[in-house]
Amino acid sequence: MLNETHDPALRSWVPSTAADAADFPIQNLPFGRFVSPATGRPTLGVAIADAVLDLVAATAAGVLGGDAAEGVNACRDGWLNGLMALPARHASALRRDLSRALRADACIDKRLRACLFLRRGLRMLRPVDVRNFSDFYTSIHHARNCGRLRRPDNPVLPSFHAHPVAYHGRASTLSASGTAFHRPMGQFVRPGESMPVFEASQALDFECELGVYVGQGSALGERIALQDAPRHVFGFSLLNDWSARDLQVWESSPLGPFLSKSFVSTVGEWVVTAEAMAPFHVPAAPREEGVAPLLPCLDEAADRLQGGLSIDLEIRLRTAAMQRAGSAAMVLARPRFSDQYWTVGQMLAHQASNGCRLETGDLLGSGTVSGPTDDRLGCLLELTRAGQRSFMLPDGEERTYLEDGDEVVIAARSAAPGFVPIGFGACAGTVLPARR
Ligand code: CA
Repeated sequence: MLNETHDPALRSWVPSTAADAADFPIQNLPFGRFVSPATGRPTLGVAIADAVLDLVAATAAGVLGGDAAEGVNACRDGWLNGLMALPARHASALRRDLSRALRADACIDKRLRACLFLRRGLRMLRPVDVRNFSDFYTSIHHARNCGRLRRPDNPVLPSFHAHPVAYHGRASTLSASGTAFHRPMGQFVRPGESMPVFEASQALDFECELGVYVGQGSALGERIALQDAPRHVFGFSLLNDWSARDLQVWESSPLGPFLSKSFVSTVGEWVVTAEAMAPFHVPAAPREEGVAPLLPCLDEAADRLQGGLSIDLEIRLRTAAMQRAGSAAMVLARPRFSDQYWTVGQMLAHQASNGCRLETGDLLGSGTVSGPTDDRLGCLLELTRAGQRSFMLPDGEERTYLEDGDEVVIAARSAAPGFVPIGFGACAGTVLPARR
């Protein structure tokens, strides 16, 4: 899958001075949806260094042609779905043509330059119109840390080792990065009491995840072989599956999460394509010793060898007081996606294994990305041992769970020897007081 667009020698003529410009070298070219300052309407863009190129305007100006233009023209109102639904050659041609036009040695097309906007200050929107959202549970460290709270002697159940566990989420509550949301109200039982109250959650948490966007779907009744799963992945974005732990504990016996997760989930600004991620595949994490072998439908040589992804995430917290004081955010943890027990391919193959139809634009969440050490845990439930252990912020504030006014930002980078690192931009959200 490697081609000229991954060449580490490539540089762009677009200036790169912004603090986060390193996320968007010419080897990345992620897609996003934003409000055009020129027209005031949503449009499809690609991030390059300090700028975003309006692809719809560039196509209308005649800068792009062939499969690339056809791909952009399929994206109505700037939603990426139209391009995702087309055969992969369209997104690939678009990436190749953009790479060639934006290279330092390219003859700069004035029409192209007119379609560039400074990234800073742009209003970013949700890039994909998602109709189905499933959230998985693919970190064994997260599963063990959470399972221990309920079953200290048997934290990881046998089914966790047999298939990637998941539940169906709500696509309607997916929100753009930067969205502020109200602390959810709900039922929970206060510590030491036995009867529930209906109150504002007192245990609001984030979950640092990777989102996987489906490109080509599957037909009802059709299964997806593990070896074919990568062909159904259009790209990746950051995802924060905000969770109300007190609601979750009360409602999740005996079924899974419901209202504790469906008040908001934040998706990242940018969709990093599967093609851009080609240099960053790594072996799947090893199976634990002593567990039953995988069933053949979830076991495949190429998936074992390169089903993992090298993505280093970072979770930052900035409280209202820190924002007022102009202080920098505090890094809470740096989880690594390469620690995940199940691969993206296994998630897709498992979801379609009963004949469930996958559709273009479906979003599959990886579940919380957590590793074996405290600095690699992906949620406060784990970092604070379910609220039993608070931590201090640089300005002397104390936290267990999130307070009103807190902003959480997830960022991520992928790096590999011999390639230019790429980033995912931001996935940010701020907690507002509950609506009582
Ligand atoms: Ca989750």
